[in-house]
Amino acid sequence: MEKQEFVASETESVLSVRNLTTSFRIGSQWRSVVRDMNFDIAPRETVAIVGESGSGKSVTSLSVMRLLPENSSRIEGSVKLAGRELLDLDREAMRQVRGNDISMIFQEPMTSLNPIFPIGKQIAEAILCHRNVSAAEAKDEVLRLLDKVRIPNAKNRFDEYPHQFSGGMRQRVMIAMALASRPKLLIADEPTTALDVTIQGQILDLIKQLQDEEGMAVLFITHDMGVVAEISDRTIVMFRGEAVETGTTDDIFNRGRHPYTRALLSAVP
Ligand code: ADP
Ligand code: MG
Repeated sequence: MEKQEFVASETESVLSVRNLTTSFRIGSQWRSVVRDMNFDIAPRETVAIVGESGSGKSVTSLSVMRLLPENSSRIEGSVKLAGRELLDLDREAMRQVRGNDISMIFQEPMTSLNPIFPIGKQIAEAILCHRNVSAAEAKDEVLRLLDKVRIPNAKNRFDEYPHQFSGGMRQRVMIAMALASRPKLLIADEPTTALDVTIQGQILDLIKQLQDEEGMAVLFITHDMGVVAEISDRTIVMFRGEAVETGTTDDIFNRGRHPYTRALLSAVP
């Protein structure tokens, strides 16, 4: 399980991360919380980052998205999306990349949905903001997306508000919204952590199916090795800001040798 094995051809990668190091300013000091991350994600591939709370998983994904506070954070290294360096882009260009090429879903969909607007309207706005279509076409597209994420009876739920949906259904709404821009890359940061186990399985199945249908690359963040086994082709084990092990998910499960990997595996029933 050489580190190099994980680094595919940059030209074929949707995402190519090299020597990514992220630091925060604490008073007059800089403290690195992510150090020297290297990985690639190919089209239709799912790469998982697994690690305990505070290990630097979210900061890694927020660095890729460039969503960290500009004044108090520093991102070094290289982050290429389909060959284009993101760390050199100005704020406006980066905003467009986030709108058009990368989508993100989080643990608690309620924080990303606006409670005072019906969900159909929110998804329609996401579509109108990315594509040159009429309002009527956007509405048709919303219904198609709600269908795609298997929300039963989508037509009647178009005008409902976020609080009228269960946690699992809300996460489906968020996934529909994430698909609105037809992203090359979907970043999922603990999207099933707040859900019951059976619902969790359904959402993981949905992400896998959508990935097949849409051809996206997925960066999937979780603290749960059981989820890793379900979803990812390749896996990065993160510990205290560093990748301590990388490999195919199969390799990690069968031949993972870092003590922290062993500890994570021993927690899988
Ligand atoms: P994980 O997602 O693996 O639970 P995070 O990536 O959120 O962990 O956090 C990694 C470390 O970075 C933690 O020690 C956290 O306190 C710190 N951190 C995260 N965001 C910030 C921030 N905006 N400013 C300063 N420190 C931060
Ligand atoms: Mg996190």
